[in-house]
Amino acid sequence: MIFIVLEFKSFYKQPTGNNELSKCKYLTRLDTYGCGCSHNCSYCYAKSLLDFRNLWNPLNPRVADINKIEKTINKIEPGTVVRLGGMTDCFQVFENAYRVTYKTIQLLNKRRIHYLIVTKSDMVASDKYLEILDKELAHIQISITSTDDKTALKYEKAPSTSRRIAAIEKIDSLGYDVQLRLSPFIPELIDFDILNSINCNRILVEFLRVNTFIKRWFTEIDFDKYTLKQSNYLHLPLEEKIKQIEKITGFKELTVCEDVTEHYNYWRDKVNPNKDDCCNLQFESQELRQVA
Ligand code: SF4
Repeated sequence: MIFIVLEFKSFYKQPTGNNELSKCKYLTRLDTYGCGCSHNCSYCYAKSLLDFRNLWNPLNPRVADINKIEKTINKIEPGTVVRLGGMTDCFQVFENAYRVTYKTIQLLNKRRIHYLIVTKSDMVASDKYLEILDKELAHIQISITSTDDKTALKYEKAPSTSRRIAAIEKIDSLGYDVQLRLSPFIPELIDFDILNSINCNRILVEFLRVNTFIKRWFTEIDFDKYTLKQSNYLHLPLEEKIKQIEKITGFKELTVCEDVTEHYNYWRDKVNPNKDDCCNLQFESQELRQVA
């Protein structure tokens, strides 16, 4: 089958000034691919928002135009943190063909703009990318959802968990700002002995939130414990979350990214190392001003 490459036009999103309620510090987002992700995870929020409008195609996502990305980047203030991969994975398999993320990172380096990479791929740890990832600018979060390769493959078509763990350990050993992102954290899919033996100093945890689409697609777990409703999503109650977080013991720093307001306040006050930044990013150079 031959696919036509469609352009992804809305690749850049900036805070609008109306984000007082947002808990996320890094709202500037640049997606090199859109309207589809080859990993096609059953619990994907972006997919749950786009699929019913026929705007989600995991086999042929839209591709952002690098010339337009360059023009946009030239207007971003140096020191800003731009999130790469907010709505799709910027290291999904199509990056091998188009290399838009690669070229974007080069442009961000040139302008001294920080980039927060969130990915379920080990591609970011390949030699080709390590050559261009700038230790002062790159903040890398590699996600896993299960400690078992076969289980994860049932609901996400991404590189295996073992490959992702190897990538995390490699990047951590090289001294980058890297976190194992346990996202979404679904306790029954985790062997805590395996998790706690991963060689990475820092972990970020984000619990699963469930809407009707995710409930329908994600058949590997049951949702009986997801009894708390907020903003059209179901969540685990805080007591259950605390119980599960206590099983994560193998990391020097643990931070929780949270959606439910009362839970967010709890993690911020009792658990997170940086009260102002639940992403807990590390910045080497204080000269570079962060513009969240
Ligand atoms: S990797 Fe991320 S963006 Fe891609 S399908 Fe999975 S959850 Fe969605």
